[in-house]
Amino acid sequence: MPTLVAQSLTKSYPSAGGELPVLAGVSLSLERGENAAVIGPSGSGKSTLLSILGTLESPTAGVYELCGTAPFALAEAELAAFRSRHIGFIFQDHHLLPQCSVLENVLAPLLADGRASSSDVGRAEFLLDRVGLAHRRDHRPAQLSGGERQRAAIARALFRGPTLLLADEPTGNLDRTTAALISDLMLELQREYNAILIVVTHSQALAERLQRRFELDGGRLVPRA
Ligand code: ADP
Ligand code: MG
Repeated sequence: MPTLVAQSLTKSYPSAGGELPVLAGVSLSLERGENAAVIGPSGSGKSTLLSILGTLESPTAGVYELCGTAPFALAEAELAAFRSRHIGFIFQDHHLLPQCSVLENVLAPLLADGRASSSDVGRAEFLLDRVGLAHRRDHRPAQLSGGERQRAAIARALFRGPTLLLADEPTGNLDRTTAALISDLMLELQREYNAILIVVTHSQALAERLQRRFELDGGRLVPRA
């Protein structure tokens, strides 16, 4: 059984005119170490799909398993623990906590269920060094450049050694040069951590660097060259 299995996922939202169908049967299987790009016009359901694969939102119907677990069958607290353990998110607008330092932001995935030990802090410092931010560990997000904020967000996403990394337009707010550096870093770390990476992007340059490309078209994932 592949590490990530999605079969016939559908999602519709209630709307004034009845149900609004967004996903109409999405199927996808990925093993650890594989990566894929999802492209598609605005409103085609890309973020909705990432939310479901990230277990933030349940599908209307369909099968989803990650690491042999069906997350939507878990109770709420177990689902939160599963998500925190297995899934890392990288968003377009970083979602760092503004009042926390870079180091605290990297540790944030832990703070929901306990305090950080000295080995946790050591691991966070190692990751900050790895993403090139060792000299920024005590800075607040507002004191960083856009590229540095995404480096911090990547370190946070990797902190617990996730099985699945989900990135929604990770380079959407960056200039071309910075976007290329951030893409390099994300792909290097995905390999190092042997994670699955799924990237939603409008960037052809980024999509072309991933092993597989899909377009969300009419609520389905269609393979693209
Ligand atoms: P994309 O990321 O490809 O731009 P989204 O997944 O954000 O697309 O949205 C797909 C469609 O679903 C849009 O029509 C959007 O308005 C609708 N939608 C997304 N989230 C919700 C929600 N929570 N409630 C109702 N409609 C939603
Ligand atoms: Mg979106």
